[in-house]
Amino acid sequence: MTSEAKVTNLHHEPRVYSRDEHTISRRNISPNALKVLYRLNGAGFRACLVGGGVRDLLLGREPKDFDIATDALPEQVRELFRNCRLIGRRFRLAHVRFGPEIIEVATFRAHHEEDGGATTNDDGRILRDNVYGTLDDDAWRRDFTVNALYYDIRDFSVIDYVGGVEDLERGVMRLIGDPELRYREDPVRMLRAIRFAVKLGFRIDEASERPLIELGGLLEEIAPARLFDESLKLFHGGCALQTFEALRHYGIFQRLFPQADAALSHEHVGFPATLIARALENTDQRIQEGKSVTPAFLLAAILWDAYEEQRTQRLAEGASEQDAQAMAADSVIAQQVARLAVPRRFTQMTREIWGLQNRFLKPTPKRARRLLEHPRFRAAYDFLALRAQAGEPLDDTVAWWTQLQEAEGDAREGMLGGLRGQPGAGKPRRRRRRRPKEAT
Ligand code: ATP
Ligand code: MG
Repeated sequence: MTSEAKVTNLHHEPRVYSRDEHTISRRNISPNALKVLYRLNGAGFRACLVGGGVRDLLLGREPKDFDIATDALPEQVRELFRNCRLIGRRFRLAHVRFGPEIIEVATFRAHHEEDGGATTNDDGRILRDNVYGTLDDDAWRRDFTVNALYYDIRDFSVIDYVGGVEDLERGVMRLIGDPELRYREDPVRMLRAIRFAVKLGFRIDEASERPLIELGGLLEEIAPARLFDESLKLFHGGCALQTFEALRHYGIFQRLFPQADAALSHEHVGFPATLIARALENTDQRIQEGKSVTPAFLLAAILWDAYEEQRTQRLAEGASEQDAQAMAADSVIAQQVARLAVPRRFTQMTREIWGLQNRFLKPTPKRARRLLEHPRFRAAYDFLALRAQAGEPLDDTVAWWTQLQEAEGDAREGMLGGLRGQPGAGKPRRRRRRRPKEAT
């Protein structure tokens, strides 16, 4: 074991930054988080803001959420707040809810090395981590130094046991303790290292960076549900494109999306790489504009090439277009959810986005109308546009559908009518008079 590992057991005095030695102001802390801090403190407990809240406030950024650490036990926290629920098995904590805002309250924990209290498996992975301790213990079991700073509500000071303030100033993500050991305890820390480094524009300290390439495989043992949650944080955090590039760089993307990675490595014309990059860029832009994003859309892009490959193969084997699509989607999605537990409502939408792609080509008036009214039209159209942007020869098709959506009344009827005589309009179909009910 390296000397760094021993540092985790050295409980030296923390560096304390008094209220006028740091920039955190209560004005920038959520009123609900303050309420929780004050109430805990008023009941005689120690209560500190910790984690991303302190880190981001010190950086002058707006925190995503506020985490609180206390010496109150989860049950004691529950007694203080009506709006409180205890969650988690691996890691038990209290959620105090205020409308849409949830304040996470965790009891101080000790790092397992010291008292053997946490349960680990053969890889050194922590299976349960509910050994309570003091604030001083708690700092050492956190992941990165910049995540282990405490803002103490008693005197508004910032408490730093691990050199987190210096690392913040230098822009460094550094694991507390021996990096390899800490990644083995919880491989998700590898994803967190990359996510925070990208989001904050930090570099990963060399000793914390080195094991990333070697230990990526450990991620395969993480529960698919947790990996899905982490993936959302990776790709819906506003820096999806850069995060993707970093994940690829460290060989970790393949652990999350093995099929996509395989497709990326034997890409021919550059389509898949560009498509995924465009989709991620698009996601970042939507988030910046405050628009909604869905994992279904990204999933459609990430797995598109694998899906197309399978669909083509099934067609070559003689399957009908319908069957080829269904079999390809089944197979690609089944393999993916074994790794990331993407909820069904999203995979269903991904299938629909894929399934509608062919229907943009060579439409008849009736099919065009139907497609316009399809609940997934917009997502599927956006996806088509993305494919065009990524270099597929679909510009004319996209332009036509864009115009059709914008056209009203006679203009739209004119466009649809124009489809009839076109050679590309598919086989002549038996024409029935449109009845009103078909228009819905
Ligand atoms: P953000 O909320 O902005 O994504 P955060 O640092 O607050 O970032 P959370 O997931 O909210 O991250 O966790 C809160 C804190 O809990 C972290 O800052 C860290 O101190 C600790 N923590 C979270 N996950 C781990 C982990 N896997 N191992 C060790 N400590 C962790
Ligand atoms: Mg947080």
